This record gives sequence, C-alpha cells and structure tokens, in this order.
Amino acid sequence: MRLALQDRLFVLTGAGISAESGLATFRGSGGLWNGHRVEEVATPEAWDADPELVWRFYSMRRRDALAAQPNAAHTALARIEEKLGDRFYLCTQNVDDLHERAGSLRIHHMHGTLFQSRCVRCNKSFPDQSFYETPDLPTCKTCASPIRPHIVWFGEIPLDMDNIYRELDCATTLLVVGTSGSVYPAAGFVDIANRRGIRTIYIGPEEPLNTHAFDDIILSPATQALPTMIELVP
Ligand SMILES: [Zn+2]
Repeated sequence: MRLALQDRLFVLTGAGISAESGLATFRGSGGLWNGHRVEEVATPEAWDADPELVWRFYSMRRRDALAAQPNAAHTALARIEEKLGDRFYLCTQNVDDLHERAGSLRIHHMHGTLFQSRCVRCNKSFPDQSFYETPDLPTCKTCASPIRPHIVWFGEIPLDMDNIYRELDCATTLLVVGTSGSVYPAAGFVDIANRRGIRTIYIGPEEPLNTHAFDDIILSPATQALPTMIELVP
C-alpha cells in the first residue's frame, strides 16, 4: 500500500493487535474471568453491585498489561506516525498502553485507559497504576466519593466521539486493524469513509462480513502485515 506524505491516515485498532502481544481483552469476546461473565465486571450495574470485584478485574488487567510488550504492529504504526506527523491519527478501542510504549503520540483511547482512574463525582481522570484487590477501595481526596477505573463500560458512551468524527472527516485513508470490520465502531467509520470517498483498508486474520465495504482487504495478523505493507512515497 502506497501512502503519500500529503495523505492523512486515520487508524482504528482493536483487540486483535493487543492479542498478538498475549493480552486478552474480554470486551465482546464472550470470555470468562474467574468464572464471571464480562457483564458482571465491566458494566455500571456491576460497579453498583460489587465495586471490589470490578477493581479486582481491572487490577488484574493492569498487571497483565504491565507484563506485556508492544509488538511489531504497534511499532510499525509508531514508525508511520514519525513520517506523517500531524497527518496521522490513531483511535484505539484497546485500554492497554502498548501503543504509547511503542512510541505512538497522537492516540485516542475511545474506551478509556487501564492506567487512569477517576472520581465518580468530580469525573476528573488521573494517572493510576495501583492495584486495588482488598475491600479497602480508593476514594477521592477532594470529595471522598469512590474512585473508579477510567474505562468505558458496556452501556456507556465512548470518549470524545466529536473529535473522532472531526479527524475522520479530514482523513484520506482509513485503516482498520485487529477489529471486526463489520461491527461498531469500525462499521460506522467505514460507512462514513465510503460516503466521503476515502480509501478504506482492513487488516486482520479473518475476512470481515462487510468485505465489499473496503477498498483493500489484507487477511493477515497485523504483526505480519503492518511492518512491510506501507510504503511512503514523497
Ligand atoms: Zn471527587
């Protein structure tokens, strides 16, 4: 795939790219954690019912993410950003920090991030790498309300959608990596891109149901396809 330096690249990444670093993402996977369905640990209702259980789940995910390493796909995206600068935008559904650790700068976590927490009342997020695995849960220093993971749970609205759509509006290429092309949010982004005549590319090991919606389909794990697929032409 050739990309000119005047192109504006919008990249959407999802679970598949983290899975290649050995991280389970749980979201939408139908997977279980310690015998709990994901709805029991990643919804506002779960938080209301048992915040300690929710914090155990996210503490475990913090541990797993800290132990994982960015892979060749993360690194490839950081390299492309080095070349494109402000003409690059990365929107990720992943809550780990592997993109940042690979060197990505222009990144938006639409489903929140593992390494931030926020007060349920003040709503201000802050960096947090702590593990909360006892009944002694954290509270806000300002208002004493509970501190929750800065994660978009099932049933909550993704973060800063306005900015995502603004970036999509000025892109010339949409690259979807490691997430199903046929379900939200990728499917919605691809629809917008098609209406605007933006080039659309899909990378993943499985063919998406909406194959026709993409200009290019690369059936491959991202770690294999991404490092060599993009050629920047002046
Ligand atoms: Zn507060």
